[in-house]
Amino acid sequence: MSERTTYAATRDPDVLVRAVSVHKRFGNIDVLKGLDLTVRRGQVVVLLGPSGAGKSTFLRCINHLESVDSGEIWVDDDPIGFRLRDGRLHELRERAIAKQRAQIAMVFQRFNLFPNRTVLQNVIEGPVKVKGTPIAQARQQGQELLDRVGLADKVDEYPGRLSGGQQQRVAIARALAMQPKLILFDEPTSALDPELVGEVLNVMTELACAGMTMIVVTHEMSFAREVADQVVFIDDGVVVEMGPPEQVIGNPTHSRTRQFLARVHQ
Ligand code: ADP
Ligand code: MG
Repeated sequence: MSERTTYAATRDPDVLVRAVSVHKRFGNIDVLKGLDLTVRRGQVVVLLGPSGAGKSTFLRCINHLESVDSGEIWVDDDPIGFRLRDGRLHELRERAIAKQRAQIAMVFQRFNLFPNRTVLQNVIEGPVKVKGTPIAQARQQGQELLDRVGLADKVDEYPGRLSGGQQQRVAIARALAMQPKLILFDEPTSALDPELVGEVLNVMTELACAGMTMIVVTHEMSFAREVADQVVFIDDGVVVEMGPPEQVIGNPTHSRTRQFLARVHQ
């Protein structure tokens, strides 16, 4: 389908992300079955849900690493994967999609740093290659960002010589270097030794306080409780329950949410 009418054209300027009835299937498996989500500017939204619920797939759709089968995802004025013209959505080509994607950063469970490049080289790669930032300027910004995540003394180090927590903080600095509108985190602390989780969550908390809009898949309940504006429980490809953390975590109304939380809290 190369063009379709849009039903999300009435835009609220306060909303940064709006997903409307997102469907995605792989082969004959329906993974996302009509997922809706609204994220306001500056909000932190935590996505909770069991393994296989479709959380990663949903993040990948927001970033257009996967295309949706039906429904729409808007980030700011952009319908992801499309361009709005004459009230209709027209499918974008790969280069225009890459441009949209550059405004949305993603931090993964595995840090995906280039092992044969220094920390600073990892951070400036995106700005220099994708945005055409002059190298001196990119280095300056990169150093400031590494300072912000507490790694000012590691700029010339290679990723392999850093702990997992430090590598993940480099990945966050690299995400920030693109000056994204939105950062998607997919279980950013799940691969870390327990004693390294806190330093990464602290950096994420600081970003949240600085007003960054973030969608975070995590099982870290204390982070969800303390930092999230909204918690969204996803199961079997749909939003089961959403609201402020004290409601969804503290006083869930659905049995599926309660069962999940009981398992996570064990
Ligand atoms: P979660 O992140 O909530 O654990 P995922 O989004 O990773 O869930 O996966 C949801 C379902 O989609 C799973 O059943 C998974 O096997 C399936 N899936 C995810 N990616 C693919 C893919 N590229 N091809 C086929 N099936 C996939
Ligand atoms: Mg996942």
